[in-house]
Amino acid sequence: MKKIPYGRHKIFKNDIKYVCKILRSPSITQGKTVEEFGNKIAKFVGSKYGVAVSSGTAALHSAVACLNLKKGEEVITTPLTFCATANSVLYEGGEIKLADIDINNLNIDPYEIEKKITKKTKAIIAVDFRGHPSNLIKIRNIAKEYNLKVIEDASHSLGSSYVNRDKKFKCGDCKHADMATFSFHPVKHITTGEGGIITTNNKKIFDKLNLFRKHGIQRSNKMFSKKKQIGKWYYDMEFLGYNYRLTDFQSALGISQLKNLKKFIKRRRNIVNYYNSELKQIDQLILPYEEKNVDSNFHLYSLQIQNHKKKNRYSFFNYLVNNNYNPMIHYIPIHYLKYYKKRYKFKKGDFKNSELFYSRTVSLPLFPTMKDKEVEKVVSDIKKFFEN
Ligand SMILES: *Cc1c(COP(=O)(O)O)cnc(C)c1O
Repeated sequence: MKKIPYGRHKIFKNDIKYVCKILRSPSITQGKTVEEFGNKIAKFVGSKYGVAVSSGTAALHSAVACLNLKKGEEVITTPLTFCATANSVLYEGGEIKLADIDINNLNIDPYEIEKKITKKTKAIIAVDFRGHPSNLIKIRNIAKEYNLKVIEDASHSLGSSYVNRDKKFKCGDCKHADMATFSFHPVKHITTGEGGIITTNNKKIFDKLNLFRKHGIQRSNKMFSKKKQIGKWYYDMEFLGYNYRLTDFQSALGISQLKNLKKFIKRRRNIVNYYNSELKQIDQLILPYEEKNVDSNFHLYSLQIQNHKKKNRYSFFNYLVNNNYNPMIHYIPIHYLKYYKKRYKFKKGDFKNSELFYSRTVSLPLFPTMKDKEVEKVVSDIKKFFEN
């Protein structure tokens, strides 16, 4: 059997066909397929606007740029995320403040957020870790009280939703956030190779995002003038932007992939149900928790192994590696990373729940094209490890 990774993308023939069609068209970048992809994602999640950019990190950076941070102003986020979430704040001259996770749903704990608010706090970045929506309702209320902006890092949660007072909300719909960001890296639900999107319902933010991804350059018919002898060559630069453009052929891949998303999520749920039903017999394991009002897309199956003499996370991880798996740990908490440890003098014990979770977790293989045989093998191999 081939090595089983923790995640893997799937490109269908139809995806390739559509990408080739756009590759043969006159416009392979800066064309209308990019806008179409942005609109399609916006429509899917239920936001007004969607701006496609070159990566999930570019999406986060762009979103943070719209906060207009002054040097040293603070953004509160979770220790349990990929470093790009925190980095995006530093790119814009801001500083991060970490607030620990809720040990059950593994997302930033609103109660911890409140403890971290100072006069310098400007925003909160909530991450929908493993696809499980953050508690955006509570976070939004805190943000309102202290006049903060909210960014949802929805890199994991395309297609996830939650219910509040009988109303369904989709991750990234920006009903309880100012902006949300997605990533289309191949380990995410759908891919464009590299790619990302920012969604928002705010026209001003949308306009800024549009310029931010192309150097801050503005160009419109209004700028041309016969009287002033200014022709169609003209453009101006409003502020310092970046080249964060996604190409049309990547956007074509995204549009085509989006058609399979529901099918992908259904298969993931299928596998998760099987894992849950089989693994619950093993006392030493803590299975992923899903809140009652939540419908997660299951980006990750975050298993936790309670410490027990020889059988712990370390030995379990190595066992999987030795048995032809490619498991992964999500994530080494931000405050454990050398750069952040040095910058903020973080130490062990600062964020106890994130540390406890990190010491216990392994992400099991979970992707839509996993064969039943592979899923069954994962379960039987895990049972073997804990039986002996
Ligand atoms: C993947 C990911 C990112 C970064 O996305 P890229 O497309 O790889 O730049 C940021 N935050 C989280 C939570 C992610 O999972």
